Amino acid sequence: MYIVFEGIDGAGKSTQINLLKEFLEANGLEVECVVEPTDSEVGKLIRRILQRPDSTTDHVQKTLGLLFAADRMLIMDKLSDDKKVILSDRSFISSLAYQEHADWIKVLNKYAKKPDLVLLLDLDVKKSVSRSSGEDEFENEEFLTNVRANYLEIIKDFNHEIIDANKGINKVSSDIKKAVAPHVGLCKDCIL
Ligand code: ADP
Ligand code: MG
Repeated sequence: MYIVFEGIDGAGKSTQINLLKEFLEANGLEVECVVEPTDSEVGKLIRRILQRPDSTTDHVQKTLGLLFAADRMLIMDKLSDDKKVILSDRSFISSLAYQEHADWIKVLNKYAKKPDLVLLLDLDVKKSVSRSSGEDEFENEEFLTNVRANYLEIIKDFNHEIIDANKGINKVSSDIKKAVAPHVGLCKDCIL
């Protein structure tokens, strides 16, 4: 079971993945978490390039599109382990939401594993900007408004749940558990 968390910066992906992992493990499931970009050589290169002042220019963006697809390919075996619940912080859906040239990005990610479930943590863009570090070129309201709109369109192609990420951490966590429970054989009504 490959469950993907998507959403703009500050939406609560890291926070909620940790909480869901604890919950699933307490219910006897084997869980593995992955984060994109990964800690592979390619992932490290991506993190360095993201910090460049020209990271938002067209050719650097295309370079990042290629590298993200390559980094992702390196974890395909891990994502395909059917005995575990894989919780992933981002996926190729992020590439589609953040980057232009969607048709090309789709081709690059043709062999990327398709998620069994996408949880879109949908956060108000203004809240994202106020929660974020401000270090990143992408953390501005206009850009993130576009990313959020892209997400809402793209996820229609996948088995998905939209989670209202504006609520408190515990409420968001409970909504996520209710969304995930039926997919992993747990009782939805047992979750408070
Ligand atoms: P992401 O991984 O999506 O960027 P994080 O989980 O790192 O988001 O959360 C970003 C910041 O917002 C952290 O400081 C976190 O404690 C805080 N945060 C996360 N979820 C909530 C929430 N529901 N309400 C208020 N603050 C939150
Ligand atoms: Mg995070």
